[in-house]
Amino acid sequence: MSDEDTTARTRKPLGLKRSVDAGEVKQTFSHGRTNKVAVEVKRRRKLLKPGETVEQAPATAAVAEPVAAPPPPPPPPPKPAPRPSAPAGETPQERVARLAREAEEDRLRKAEEARRREEEAQASALEEQRRRAEDNRRAEEEALRRAAEAPPAEPAAQDESASADPAGGEAAEESSGSAAAAPAPRRFTPVARPEPKRPEKKKEEKKTRSAGDERDDKRRGGKLTVNRALNSDEGARARSLAALKRAREKERRAQGGGGGKAREKQVRDVVVPEAITVGELANRMAEKGADLVKALFNMGMMVTVNQTIDQDTAELLVEEFGHNITRVSESDVDIDTSVDQDPEETLRPRPPVVTIMGHVDHGKTSLLDALRGTDVVKGEAGGITQHIGAYQITTKAGDKITFLDTPGHAAFTEMRARGANVTDIVVLVVAADDGIMPQTVEAINHTRAAGVPMIVAINKVDKPEANPQRIRERLLEQNVVVEAMSGDVQDVEVSAKTGDGLDRLVEAIQLQAELLDLKARRDRDAEGIVVEAQLDKGRGAVATLLVTRGTLKRGDTFVVGTESGRVRALIDDKGSQVKEAGPSVPVEVLGLGGVPMAGDQLTVVENEQRAREVAAYRQEQATAKRTALAPTNFDTMFAGLQSSVIEYPVVVKADVQGSVEAIVSALHNLSNDDIKVRVLHAGVGAITETDVSLAAASKAPIIGFNVRPNAKARQLVEREKVRMMYHDVIYHLTDEVTKELLGELGPLKVENVIGRAEVKQVFPAGKRDKAAGLLVVEGVLRKGLHARLTRKDVIVSATVIQSLRRFKDDVDEVRTGLECGVVLADTNDIKPGDQLEVFEVEERERTL
Ligand code: GDP
Repeated sequence: MSDEDTTARTRKPLGLKRSVDAGEVKQTFSHGRTNKVAVEVKRRRKLLKPGETVEQAPATAAVAEPVAAPPPPPPPPPKPAPRPSAPAGETPQERVARLAREAEEDRLRKAEEARRREEEAQASALEEQRRRAEDNRRAEEEALRRAAEAPPAEPAAQDESASADPAGGEAAEESSGSAAAAPAPRRFTPVARPEPKRPEKKKEEKKTRSAGDERDDKRRGGKLTVNRALNSDEGARARSLAALKRAREKERRAQGGGGGKAREKQVRDVVVPEAITVGELANRMAEKGADLVKALFNMGMMVTVNQTIDQDTAELLVEEFGHNITRVSESDVDIDTSVDQDPEETLRPRPPVVTIMGHVDHGKTSLLDALRGTDVVKGEAGGITQHIGAYQITTKAGDKITFLDTPGHAAFTEMRARGANVTDIVVLVVAADDGIMPQTVEAINHTRAAGVPMIVAINKVDKPEANPQRIRERLLEQNVVVEAMSGDVQDVEVSAKTGDGLDRLVEAIQLQAELLDLKARRDRDAEGIVVEAQLDKGRGAVATLLVTRGTLKRGDTFVVGTESGRVRALIDDKGSQVKEAGPSVPVEVLGLGGVPMAGDQLTVVENEQRAREVAAYRQEQATAKRTALAPTNFDTMFAGLQSSVIEYPVVVKADVQGSVEAIVSALHNLSNDDIKVRVLHAGVGAITETDVSLAAASKAPIIGFNVRPNAKARQLVEREKVRMMYHDVIYHLTDEVTKELLGELGPLKVENVIGRAEVKQVFPAGKRDKAAGLLVVEGVLRKGLHARLTRKDVIVSATVIQSLRRFKDDVDEVRTGLECGVVLADTNDIKPGDQLEVFEVEERERTL
């Protein structure tokens, strides 16, 4: 009775409803063991969904699936859960229920088995693509085939059976067949499921294992169903999540790897200028800088990423990495203004640009001041005349003359060296009371070299001792024939002090200018030359520009040297703001990106981008120049260390850029083969802490030209005991440095060879030494003299004659034609046939 009842009762819930409702299943095992298992309805549902969402009946399916799931996880030991028992926990009931349940389970298992097979089949398809193990694949295919056979039987029945499942367990047998078909519709859904990977694997393994006797397996698995179902369920889920992550990661890696390879294969067109840093080249090649450095190392070049290499080296690299090189030359990027000639008809007369040169103290500055005083518009502007490196005067006749306000030939030469020959006429100042001095001669030579016409201004004629005629005569010695001597060089007697002759000087300049027929086009983008540049407190980088052609306007975009900028303001030599500046007009330009160098050309360009491009390119070039284009190789690496040239380091600070350049150039001129002035840093402005620490680190003096250290720097100077050299005359400065250099070098040592001898034989002398039997072939040999031993013209040793003997007697001197024996100090490397050269060392005072 009770049995029947239970059966009847259990039939309906039959581990389906009950297990779902209860949320907990109590398992009873054969030996009286029990086990409580939590049942999560939701999970079941989830699991079910993928397969059977389409068909409603989630609850049923939910049960069905988990139950079915267990068979696969025959986590081998099927013993632990041999027979799932009824939830109620009543043993009799369970017994009754068992048969039914087993039938049901069997059915479900079969359904699940089929579904799994289906999934596996899909997985195998995926695997095939990934070229997995062939065994697995084959097994899959088998499964697929089997699964495929089933569905066609009764596709419609599946649905029915699925929905019918919950109704009665009896249907189990029937549905098992149709359940196998169930997978068919799933086939499509799971494809999108990302989880398959892991579970599949396991299933596959099991699959292959069970391939032969599925039935047995199923049966065995069937006994563990509920427990298994749950465990395996969870396991499968956990795995699938992890598997999902792993799968994604793997995929990503696979893609990444593939992408990397593809990138490597990508051939690029690499634009390479005449000089480029390794880092920049790496960027353009989209390669790693370190790889390039490695490649260069293999080529025998030691470079760092920041070093610059030339175009040819770059080409080797580019090819090495399989890219194509596109060489660009300066002309492609830079602005070449020389090709851009203005048509004749556009040219208009322009004022001459005059430079005053001459020996120090002959009155250049005084004359410049005096000439400025002749400016007829001076008073009108009312501005305070300011030193901007150049100024313009208007003559009584209304003509204009521009004077470069940086006297001395240093600036002139420096500018000319940069190809910036802005000077049209040179006025050579010679003091009538002094005569032709070294710098006068230099000035004459520079002027000639530049091919610029010259006017001689014989100054200080107000002085009683002045003798202008003597100056004219002395000039003849320099091949300067003035008009008064029937030549073609104009000469004017002036006095900067009294103003005498200034008008005549101005006239002479105008006359010369007329002869030169100076012209320039006004209505075009401006070009100009930087006369002076400095970093101004508050105004930023400021440059005095001499416009060479065109008209510079406020707002113009330009590139100047290695800097770019936009004209923020224009200030003339009288300190007033102007809107524009035409040819030969000196003007102060505000709005520069950085401080350019004297002699740099300013060019107005169409837009900021172009300006920046050119500036960047020029900067690159400048860096390349500074860092000495030739990359270090093993041979040259240590060359510098072995060099015997003494270096004299200095730090130079001056008030204006022009002075900086003049000083640096003058210092370099002091260098020779033995000693070299090394300018660690040269700049405009006060001496700062940085300058002092730099000097201190290199034990270098600081040259301050018209500048002094700021307060902080002064303290540091005292602390670090840095030597300061303050000057306001370059001439004096170079004198002092020259003395320093001579001190560094010490007296000059001169060798006087006084004798030569040939080694005839060698014999031992004393315990260790060797003596040589010599024949004196030239001059004399004296004891204690320096000697050089040469073998086949290669110096073997430099030594001293320690002892000198003739027939066993010590002698002081041996003359030509005689034989003697010598012992050389510190050397025993003597062989017959060697030559001995004997010399005296004389110390002389050195000059540079
Ligand atoms: P610079 O070194 O060539 O620039 O010469 P300066 O212009 O500094 O002049 C040197 C010295 O000569 C100064 O003391 C001036 O006063 C003086 N000096 C310049 N021109 C004249 C002149 O025409 N007559 C007289 N008597 N002295 C002059």
